[in-house]
Amino acid sequence: LGTVKYFKYIILGGGVAAGYAAREFERQGLKPAELAIISKEAVAPYERPALSKAYLNPKGAARLPDFHVCVGSGGERLLPGWYKEKGIQLILSTEIVKVNLGSKTLISAGGETFKCQTLIIATGSTVIRLTDFKVEGADAKNIFYLREIDDADKLVESIKTKKNGKAVIIGGGYIGLEVGAAMKINNLDVSMVYPEPWCMPRLFTPPLAAFYESYYANKGIKIVKGTVAVGFNSNENGEVTGVKLKDGRVLEADIVVVGVGARPLTALFKGQVEEEKGGIKTDGFFKTSIPSVYAVGDVATFPMKLYNDMRRVEHVDHARKSAEQAVKAIKASETGKKIAEYDYLPYFYSRSFDLSWQFYGDNVGEHVFFGDNNPLSPKPKFGSFWIKNGKLVGAFLEGGSPEENKAIAKVCRLQPTVDNLDQLKKEGLSFATKM
Ligand code: FAD
Repeated sequence: LGTVKYFKYIILGGGVAAGYAAREFERQGLKPAELAIISKEAVAPYERPALSKAYLNPKGAARLPDFHVCVGSGGERLLPGWYKEKGIQLILSTEIVKVNLGSKTLISAGGETFKCQTLIIATGSTVIRLTDFKVEGADAKNIFYLREIDDADKLVESIKTKKNGKAVIIGGGYIGLEVGAAMKINNLDVSMVYPEPWCMPRLFTPPLAAFYESYYANKGIKIVKGTVAVGFNSNENGEVTGVKLKDGRVLEADIVVVGVGARPLTALFKGQVEEEKGGIKTDGFFKTSIPSVYAVGDVATFPMKLYNDMRRVEHVDHARKSAEQAVKAIKASETGKKIAEYDYLPYFYSRSFDLSWQFYGDNVGEHVFFGDNNPLSPKPKFGSFWIKNGKLVGAFLEGGSPEENKAIAKVCRLQPTVDNLDQLKKEGLSFATKM
């Protein structure tokens, strides 16, 4: 029988949330050997959004250790040596395959056993694969997904070997848009395929999407909408050569990148803990239904105080903030102190080419477009407000300055009354900046 490794605290998963949680533990006071982070990945926690952006640049690409947490939010970079110095055990390249939440026992694929007093689940998400839907030929070589640094390395390698080749991006979400841009910057011939009538349909309104689609078209990216990939052709080496579309067309391809969504990694805990809306249900302190077990980041379904409902958020800002909240709550509970409930304002951003947008709040109700969305403008600046029950609840802004972005965040938090949508449209961004 192997020995059991015991820690006061274990963070299961070594992604964004894990890194920010470690920093918060250290701020709150941590003794050596109290905390372990167990991660399937081979590297210390890093800012995952870099993988679909600067990591793919043809020149001056971001590489570790440049983007370890917590640089993404302007903090100090936690290099592997930092964890060592603080007595935090980074247990890397270690996949946990079995968990007993009641006894807080974790077993790795290599047969090691770990136990702790307090467990933080931070397993994040995994990509949805076309092989999950048994799409014909979807296991061909050079069909890529992007979640972990290993995936990004494989994609970078293929960009080198398929120089000036043809890339097909499947999916019109932010991963598809970011990777599509990166492939174009790498001089590949890029097509994007998605079934919806416009890109980013869960967030973009038609006038927002119209801008990005024209901008991409002007960059030479072919956009194929309203159809899906139903199969792949490959050559005698098993490498993908074409994408078969439902409408009968075939797109030639040397590289395919699939970005069709992600699902939270909760399978290890099924039946052991309460779930809601596809995630692990928590309270406003990220406590689950099991004592001393917390869940943060992509896997947590938590009370969204501002909208009085339960939500799961798959974005980096929430991964950071939920991790900090959980650690504060753990430390407070040990000393009998109270902290305030999580009160989150949703925030999400994306960058591609010279573009950069931010979104705050809730995209529900009526929407009002403002600004200049001519894709040929030298510095396009435009956005959208969302108004529900006479209150402004959401805002999107492309090309905003730091002050303007702060202003739209503030206005979404304050939720001012809007009586006249025409007036709001006329005022546009100044409605937010004057507040
Ligand atoms: P993750 O960062 O995914 O970390 C989970 C960790 O747990 C991983 O290291 C994983 O290997 C490990 N793990 C899982 N299961 C096990 C197991 N059984 N045993 C051991 N280890 C395990 N959000 C934005 O807001 N803006 C963006 O621009 C943006 N860009 C993104 C680009 C890409 C390519 C990706 C993939 C995501 C992007 N996101 C973005 C989303 C954001 O990165 C995630 O919301 C965030 O990383 C979630 O943090 P997390 O700690 O919950 O999970």
